[in-house]
Amino acid sequence: MSAAGVKSGNGCIADTPIVVVGACFVDYVAYVDHLPQVGESLRCRSFSKGFGGKGSNQAVCAGRLGASVSMVGAVGTDGDGADYIANFQRNGVQVSNVYRMENTSTGLAMIFVDSTTSHNEIVFSPNATGALTVDYLRKQSDNYNNFFGPKCRYIILQNEIPVETTLDVLKEAHTRGIYTVFNAAPAPSTDEVAVVKPFLSYVSLFCVNEVEASMITGIDVKDTQSAILATEEMQKLGAHSVVTTLGGNGYVIGEKGKPPRHLPSITVKAVDSTGAGDCFVGAMVFYLSMGKSLEESCKRANMIAAISVQRPGTQSSYPTLDELPAEVK
Ligand code: ADP
Repeated sequence: MSAAGVKSGNGCIADTPIVVVGACFVDYVAYVDHLPQVGESLRCRSFSKGFGGKGSNQAVCAGRLGASVSMVGAVGTDGDGADYIANFQRNGVQVSNVYRMENTSTGLAMIFVDSTTSHNEIVFSPNATGALTVDYLRKQSDNYNNFFGPKCRYIILQNEIPVETTLDVLKEAHTRGIYTVFNAAPAPSTDEVAVVKPFLSYVSLFCVNEVEASMITGIDVKDTQSAILATEEMQKLGAHSVVTTLGGNGYVIGEKGKPPRHLPSITVKAVDSTGAGDCFVGAMVFYLSMGKSLEESCKRANMIAAISVQRPGTQSSYPTLDELPAEVK
């Protein structure tokens, strides 16, 4: 059986160098002529169902590039859960630590998109993902031994599962000498910022966008100069390296012992930038795992993310290895 074909939640030790811990959300997207008013029942123009959750997007991005990657997360015993696991397997992501929780649904987001203005309204419900408490995850994974297998070298975390769980896994991974990547997305609340800050010294690579960098540092990140200042500040807070992404304006890298530097993005005609940040993170860690430097990994991740923004969809916009230009293969 291939690594990606392992049965979900079976208590096997993940045997991949990259492990992603995070959310599995199914997106129900309805395109409407206008956003519904109070009390209104509205027939949508068209509908699509997609797979999301930042951690899952990152794992799928790495898997499509050919990485050896495992997901740690939770889905329900409903049809969405089965669909999600099949989606991971199609994209080369190992699922032995994707748990199927009884009596709860798979996490989901209900999204209305106004077809004229592109404005949207989103209601999400973490469901199984919200039940990933420290106690649950430690119990399921033999105190994390099941996903910190002998091959594990990189762990990627975000801010979509309970924050206490993220921080507990982060600290444990750091203690075990694993390279920890913390993508603090979506932006932490003020209360979460206070809880997260003391843990930044356990972070090998802290990755944020402009909004997240502003929340963490209190600096209004709106241009290259403020991004450089915020990156420096996040390093002072204890993160070893920091990458601040700036959408079409590229990214800033802060590495220990070097002043932060800005690198430009690639000029492309973007049609849908949903999940670009996740694409960047998944690709960056894939290249790190291939032995590339942080600067080279970011340069390649930038190219991969630029491909993704030129296509509609989230995971479906992420390129596979055979679609890449020769210089990033
Ligand atoms: P997030 O999705 O977390 O908000 P960003 O918008 O900062 O993340 O985008 C992440 C990365 O995706 C950028 O650093 C860049 O590499 C790429 N990217 C995003 N938008 C564009 C764009 N319009 N043109 C080219 N690359 C882009």
